[in-house]
Amino acid sequence: TDTIYTSAYPSVHICRRSIFTHILGVSSSSPGTVGGFPASSPAFIDALSGTTISRGKLRSYALQLAFSLHNLPLPLENRTKTVLIFSPNSITWPVMMLGAVAAGFRATLANSGYTPHELKYQYIDAGAHLIFVHPSLVGTARTMLRSLECSEQEIRSRIIVAGVQWIMGDKDVSVPDDQLKDLVTITQLLGRGELKEEVSFDGERSNETVYLCYSSGTTGQPKGVETTHYNIISVLEMLKPVWPNSKPCLTPSIPAKGGVDVLFGCLPYYHIYGGVKLLHLPLFLGVPGVVMAGFDPDGFCAAIARYRVTIGFVVPPMLVVFARHPAIQKHDLTSLKILFSGAAPLGAELVLAVMKRMKSIGADVDILQGYGLTETSPTVFLLPVPDASSHIGAAGVLLPNLEVRLVGETEGEPHTDIPGAGEVWVRGPTIMKGYLNNPTATAEAITPDGWFKTGDICVRDKDGFFTIVDRRKELIKYKGFQVPPAELESVLLQHAEIADAAVIGIESKEEATELPRAYITPSRPLSPQEASSFALGVQNWVSQRVASHKQLRGGVVIIDKVPKSAAGKILRRELRERAKTDVAVG
Ligand code: AMP
Repeated sequence: TDTIYTSAYPSVHICRRSIFTHILGVSSSSPGTVGGFPASSPAFIDALSGTTISRGKLRSYALQLAFSLHNLPLPLENRTKTVLIFSPNSITWPVMMLGAVAAGFRATLANSGYTPHELKYQYIDAGAHLIFVHPSLVGTARTMLRSLECSEQEIRSRIIVAGVQWIMGDKDVSVPDDQLKDLVTITQLLGRGELKEEVSFDGERSNETVYLCYSSGTTGQPKGVETTHYNIISVLEMLKPVWPNSKPCLTPSIPAKGGVDVLFGCLPYYHIYGGVKLLHLPLFLGVPGVVMAGFDPDGFCAAIARYRVTIGFVVPPMLVVFARHPAIQKHDLTSLKILFSGAAPLGAELVLAVMKRMKSIGADVDILQGYGLTETSPTVFLLPVPDASSHIGAAGVLLPNLEVRLVGETEGEPHTDIPGAGEVWVRGPTIMKGYLNNPTATAEAITPDGWFKTGDICVRDKDGFFTIVDRRKELIKYKGFQVPPAELESVLLQHAEIADAAVIGIESKEEATELPRAYITPSRPLSPQEASSFALGVQNWVSQRVASHKQLRGGVVIIDKVPKSAAGKILRRELRERAKTDVAVG
C-alpha cells in the first residue's frame, strides 16, 4: 500500500453555500460591504480603457441579469438551465458568469477559439439553452446553430450578444451591424429589474454543479467537468493560508498603494486556471483584477506598469517573454512581486533566466508555481513565497484539506522507472462531482473511496515538496491549452486518404511548450516526393478544421504502421521515443 500524504497546513473550514454568496454576498450585519469588502472597492478593471466595475456594481449587474434570465422564455425541452459563455476575456465576463450563477443556472465555459464544429460538441453535450456570445464570435455561433437546423427565430432566442459596449457607453464598431441585427444584447437585459437576492445553494445544495469546463481527462474526447459551488468555495478557502498576501483591500484607489495586491493576467476565464485565479480569487481576497484578452508582450507589460500590478498570472511560454523580450526593459515593472505559473510544466532553467532578468531591471519578483487540473478545481500543489528560491522547479506543497498518494503501478505494471515517483492520486473537497452524463469515465477517474487519478507522475522530497516529472495520460498541452489526441485523431481519420493516425506531443524548449505532432499512415503508398507534400497538405487541412491551439505545429510524419498493443491501443510511448530522432514535415 502507498503512503498517504496529508497537508502540513491545518484544515480550513468550508462553508456550504452558493459561490455567489461567498464572494459577493451582503449581510445586514455589515452594511456597505459586498462579500465582506467595501461595496465601492474595485472588482475588475479593463486594462485597455481603465473602465472599472466596483464590487457593488458587479453584484447589482449580476442580479439585474439574473432577473432577466428568469424572465426569458425557455425552450420547452430544457431541464437543467445551462448557459454557454463563448467570449474572450472582457470586463463583461464576470457579469455574464455571475449573473448566471445568481440566477441559479450552470455556466459552461467554451474556448473562444473554437470552430463552429467544436462549439457544437460542447453546446449539445452540456445541454446549453442560451449562449452569451462576444460580438466578434456571433458568426461562429450562428453557423453552429444553423448546422443544428435552428430557425432564425430560434437563433434569436438562443443568442445573447455580450460585448463591452454597454459598459463603455459606446458601440462596438468592429462588428458589422447586420451580424447583430435582431439579436438580444446584454444591454437590453440589464435595467429591467433586479433579483432581490441570489438563488441560494445552502447545505446539501452546495453540491450542485455550477461550472462545466471541458477536459479530456486521462483519455478520449473532452468531457464536461462538473464543478460544484462547494468545490470552488473549497479551493478559495484552501488557497488562503498558502497565498502570499491576503491583506484586504482597504484603499479602493488605483493604482494600489500600501501593500494592496492587484492581480492581473490574460489567461482565459473559460479555463479553470483563469476562472479561479483571475475571476474568483480577486473577489474573494477583496483586491482588484485587471482584465485583458490575449497575450502580447508590450500590452502585458504596459498594463503591469499602469495599474501597479503586484501578482501576475502566466503560463510557462509567457515566462520565455519575461526572460528575453525587449518589452521587459521598456516598462516600469517594479510593482511586480510575484509571477505565478501554472497549467503546464515549468523548467528550472527558465525560472532562473527570468529571475536574473527581473533582477537586472530592478524588480524583486518571486516566481511561484501551482499544479492542478480542471477536475481538481484546480489547485493541488502550490509553491509558497518563502520557498520560491530554494525549491525552483517544484510544483509546491499540498494545499490544506487534501490527501495525496503517489501510486507506483497499476496491475503490476510500473508507471515510471524514476525512483520514488508515482501517479498522483488526490482526495478532498475540490475533486469534481464527475464527468457530466458519463458514469463510465467518472468511475474510471475516481475510485469508490474518492481518489481522483490525475495521470501525472510526481516525486516528493523529504520536506514535502512535490515535483511533476512526467505525464502518464495521452493529453498534450499547447501553451497551457488542452489538446486531446483522440480528438485530433478522429479529425485525421475523416481525411479520405488517411488510413490510420496517432497524435503525440513533442517538446519545444524554445517556446516552453509541447507541440502536437501527427503520425499518419496514408491509404495508398506514396513516393518520397509525394510524401512530403501530402504531409504538408494534411497539416493545412487540419488547421482549417480545429481551433488554433490544436494545430499540428509539431509537424506530420508519415509511417508505415501506427504502433499498437494487442488490444489495439496506440503505443504512444513508442512514438514519443521515435519523435526524439524523427524529422517531421511542417
Ligand atoms: P487542465 O485540466 O487543462 O488544467 O490540465 C491539467 C494538466 O495540466 C495536468 O494534469 C498536468 O498534466 C498539467 N499541469 C498543470 N499544472 C502543471 C504543472 N505545474 N506542472 C506540470 N504539469 C502541469
